[in-house]
Amino acid sequence: MSQKSELLFKITPKSGLTDAEVEQKRVEFGINELLEQRPVPLYRKIWHHLKDISSLVLLLAVVLATYMAIFQNGGWTKTIVISLILIINVVIGLYQEASAEKSLAALKAMSLPTAKGRRNGRDITLAASELVPGDLIYLNTGDQVPADAVIIEETNLTVDEAILTGESLAVSKTNFKAETNLTDDERIFSGTAVVGGSALAQVTAIGMATELGKIANLLNKTQKRQTPLQGKLDSLSKWMTLFAALGGVVIFSLSMGMQNKALADSLMIGLSLAVAAVPETLPIIVTISLSRGVKRMADRNAIIRHIGAVETIGNVDVIATDKTGTLTQNKMTITKYWTPETDIKKAADLPEAGQNLLKMLGLANDAKIMEKDGSKEVIGDATEIAIVNWLKTQGSSRQQLEEKAPRIAEDPFDSAKKMMTTVHRLPNGHLLVIAKGALDRLPLTQSKVIEAGQKAHDDLAAAALRVLAVGYKVLPEDADPTAWKEINSNLKLAGLIGLIDPPRPEVAAAIAKARQAGIKTVMITGDHLVTAKAIAEEIGILDSGQTAITGTELSEMSDAELKQSIQNISVYARVSPSDKIRIVQMWQELNKTVAMTGDGVNDAPALKAADVGIAMGVTGTEVAKEAADMILTDDNFATIIKAVAEGRTVYQNIIKAVEFLIGVNFAQIFLMVISTIFGWGAPLLAEQLLIINVLADGIPGFFISKEPSEPNIMAQDPIGNDESLLGRGLMQRMIIRAITFTILTLGVYAYGRFVISANNPQVGMTLVFLVLALGSMIDIYAIKDSQPISWQTFKTNKMLNWGLLLSMTLVISLTVLPHLRQFLHLTLLPIQGWLVVLFGSLIPIFILELNKRLTGNLQLNFENS
Ligand code: ADP
Ligand code: MG
Repeated sequence: MSQKSELLFKITPKSGLTDAEVEQKRVEFGINELLEQRPVPLYRKIWHHLKDISSLVLLLAVVLATYMAIFQNGGWTKTIVISLILIINVVIGLYQEASAEKSLAALKAMSLPTAKGRRNGRDITLAASELVPGDLIYLNTGDQVPADAVIIEETNLTVDEAILTGESLAVSKTNFKAETNLTDDERIFSGTAVVGGSALAQVTAIGMATELGKIANLLNKTQKRQTPLQGKLDSLSKWMTLFAALGGVVIFSLSMGMQNKALADSLMIGLSLAVAAVPETLPIIVTISLSRGVKRMADRNAIIRHIGAVETIGNVDVIATDKTGTLTQNKMTITKYWTPETDIKKAADLPEAGQNLLKMLGLANDAKIMEKDGSKEVIGDATEIAIVNWLKTQGSSRQQLEEKAPRIAEDPFDSAKKMMTTVHRLPNGHLLVIAKGALDRLPLTQSKVIEAGQKAHDDLAAAALRVLAVGYKVLPEDADPTAWKEINSNLKLAGLIGLIDPPRPEVAAAIAKARQAGIKTVMITGDHLVTAKAIAEEIGILDSGQTAITGTELSEMSDAELKQSIQNISVYARVSPSDKIRIVQMWQELNKTVAMTGDGVNDAPALKAADVGIAMGVTGTEVAKEAADMILTDDNFATIIKAVAEGRTVYQNIIKAVEFLIGVNFAQIFLMVISTIFGWGAPLLAEQLLIINVLADGIPGFFISKEPSEPNIMAQDPIGNDESLLGRGLMQRMIIRAITFTILTLGVYAYGRFVISANNPQVGMTLVFLVLALGSMIDIYAIKDSQPISWQTFKTNKMLNWGLLLSMTLVISLTVLPHLRQFLHLTLLPIQGWLVVLFGSLIPIFILELNKRLTGNLQLNFENS
């Protein structure tokens, strides 16, 4: 930013731009968007895939095979097969990457910011991307500034420009004085956050022409972070690769030493084993699973802003949620009121004495009527909308009231203060001060009235009503309307209103579900303790053994005390946004994963501190959304629980893919090494291993990412932060599977070579090829369902069935069709051999099922531990 800017602009009339002007400017200046990074060219992407370890090994194998074909008359089979596999690998990788990118782009489009502006003489809400220079925009606390602009009018406007300056502090801004020589104080910049006050501003620059646009290239360079799961998988893959390489080296030396095979042959088999054993499809499966999770969450109203949140939300231990609007409907209605003269009465029953209370509420009110997509709607805080609606039932309106007593100053609402004040000029010239807010926060003069008010307050709150108090006083004509210290003192109590905000109907069930899933739900609210408790009991948050505390009690607790009792606190009432951070941090110190909801500007730090920051899509400010990892498009608590289930499904599918891919890979290594030690030679040729790798591992593994949620997904405790990837029986299952396949394949090899045939290694090889490929494809059904297999197991993922059918048909045709068979050095089996294949392929699924039933009790124990 420059201190003085050369900027010169033409003032737009108060009615805003006309449609015709907007059109013309759009042609001239384009769209208000930061350009994405330049797309990566195709050759760079291909290179990226060739660079990974298994592609490099394959490439080496192609070179070796070509060498053997030319100089040792080895035939071109290997070269062709390996090249094809290499190409398939790269193409699949490119395709997956493209589809993951596409879904992420779609995601970005869903969380695009909006702006409030004025065009053709009307107030409108529009996509921020549609703004053009000259547009008039309204800015309020919590908005993200959508473009560079100069300030036309402002009240107490303060802005956080950290995104540009790196310093997070509130900077005050002022109206511009002249059209030339603007200072930075008179301008606001795209991407910065309004942290206080409000303004009317005129857009001066959009898109890449903004100050933010000028540094956008820097911002684009930020690296994407790995999720914990990706990290754990990465190190697992590294171990596997190391192990595969070791297996390759062992096989190479054994076949050189024991069998006196040619160097090239030995190298080839070593390389192939290494390729087959590296779980190269795993990273692809992780990416697909995550991006599929993102999409499924979006379908359920939860928009993920960082892909890692898909995983984290599945593992949350604690969800700290706002009450108003998230647990409740945010549809407030004033049902009762109290004044010193009337006592508690129903809202519909409004004698003269109650009218004054209503008028004051109407004056100290910020709800606006806006036009959106052609229809009128009342915009503002639900509390204030309730007041506007009450006014309407009495045939009155804000405008009518303000004509008689125009507002001349305001001290806006803020959830730390829990009150707001407005100052009005009465027809006789005197000033009327009206403050509305929490009864315990209004600066009232002590009196008998307050005692009665307090009693009425408690009665209303106990009925789960949100209570708002109104205080007032009249000042002489010449009083200073902005001397807030003076103004916010010695008020008289005008009355109270009680607003009902019913819980969302689906929330009680969602909380019960969360509890079953080992997740604690905590209510955080600015409302009074009594109101909060009444609602918490209604929806099942506050049950026996749990307590509710106030922000004051919270601040009196030391960290140690809080850590001790935090497990038993379910409700925090009358808290400020700054208390939220402390709650998050205390849970985190107990090594729990915490999700926290928020909507206001001052919630942003807590949203960032939480493991999953969740912003409200409807009532949330742009600033809160920016700080969040997830946005709820329906503001609904139940949506969070749906997202948890989706996150868990993604995690579980990835674990299933690990189980599927890695167990058999180990078996392949053992098989090759042991059989070589036995002096049987390689029971599978390089090209056979590689084909199994693609058809029996790659394709089915890919479809595991499409598995739907298991019904019991919300009946298990969350995965702990430091819980091993191989926990919950995974290690044991993989070992069982690896041993099963090793013994099985060695057995069928020996049977084929020595029993069915008279020492014909090709018969043994064909049996191993079929049993290994088919057996590992069939037992996917035991892996994909953590419960014992039932008919349901075969019905939940039709794509997988078709994929398996295709893979199995291909595998079988390779051993049946004459040309293919010869090409791969396989042989046609006698009927006896096919019987072995049939039974042999069913053994692994049988053993896995048996194991599931035997250890079933063990797994159930996890649910209660
Ligand atoms: P939450 O959103 O967590 O329910 P808030 O911080 O919005 O809590 O509100 C806390 C208290 O502030 C309410 O109990 C009420 O007394 C008061 N309050 C809420 N909204 C307004 C408003 N628009 N004007 C004045 N006071 C308000
Ligand atoms: Mg609120």
